[in-house]
Amino acid sequence: MFELVASLCLIAAADVCRDVLIPGHESVSRSECQDRIRTLSLPDFSAYRQPVEPRCVPLGPTADFVDVGGGVFVHRGQISDVGPFNFGDVSNVAFVVGDRSIAVIDAGGSRKIGEAVYRAIRQTSDLPISHLVLTHMHPDHVFGASVFADAGARIVGHRKLARALGDRAESYTTSFTNRMGAAAFIGTRIVAPDLEVDEPVELDLGGRTLVVRAWPVSHSHTDITAFDGKTGTLFAGDLMFHLHTPAVDGSVRGWQSVLKDLAAIPARQVVPGHGGPILDWPESAAPLMRYLAVLEADTRAAIDRGVSLSKAVDVIGRSEAANWDLFDLFNPRNATVAYTELEWE
Ligand SMILES: [Zn+2]
Repeated sequence: MFELVASLCLIAAADVCRDVLIPGHESVSRSECQDRIRTLSLPDFSAYRQPVEPRCVPLGPTADFVDVGGGVFVHRGQISDVGPFNFGDVSNVAFVVGDRSIAVIDAGGSRKIGEAVYRAIRQTSDLPISHLVLTHMHPDHVFGASVFADAGARIVGHRKLARALGDRAESYTTSFTNRMGAAAFIGTRIVAPDLEVDEPVELDLGGRTLVVRAWPVSHSHTDITAFDGKTGTLFAGDLMFHLHTPAVDGSVRGWQSVLKDLAAIPARQVVPGHGGPILDWPESAAPLMRYLAVLEADTRAAIDRGVSLSKAVDVIGRSEAANWDLFDLFNPRNATVAYTELEWE
């Protein structure tokens, strides 16, 4: 199999380049692929050095997915910080195959990872990818989105997602470029949703629907979930963490409240944003709920004793250290969020 790529190079550095996949032109032979170049309309690559010359190459790397049955496939991202060896493959991605089309849930942390996901989907089914559901604003979940937008998918996100991504675009881009390397990041761009979720929305894939719901401030300010009634699968995004230290970028109290509502959804399994990638629901949420309860209790105790924030971050949540990976990377930030939230109650 062959695919079409464009070698994109930075305007500021002509030797920093990456072959970026142009989706939708996968072909069984090189000549068939080359025939497609003549009628090709290129995605917007104006941010890169011109001219862009598309060419045909053998298929690139494919992300690993587990077939969990019923047309649901899940990829487990590494439990790791973003770095030059994982290119932002540090969060889970899933896709659901209907009779007429496919929905993808989250997109990985770079265009490069999104491309590997796209190839894995194409090896499973030729149906169109109708929707990409972005569970929330964090860059490890959204930076792979552009390949799906280029493939014609509607981008589904919380009604506050576009604004939130706009506010953080620059810092997310700088941070991920520095951490994975400028070449690996080439082709990555932020994509705003074109289907904004406020009230629940049903995505019809043919023979099955995904119910997408927006939640109040909890893990972040932009959390949505997707529920597949056919298999009883809840795609929770980062409203559910497993093994990876939970990250609070919204509200501790809000997250606890949302978890109670999520537990009432008639799901039998969950795809968390990190870990898993497929777990029993709601039983598997117990460690996350315990962590949030400890975070809240320790924070209230520190505030009651008059401990300053700078001293409190070293003690809040400490008893949970052995239970989670990447604890020292995330727990101090969580303690800060919790302290700031609860000190004014
Ligand atoms: Zn997140």
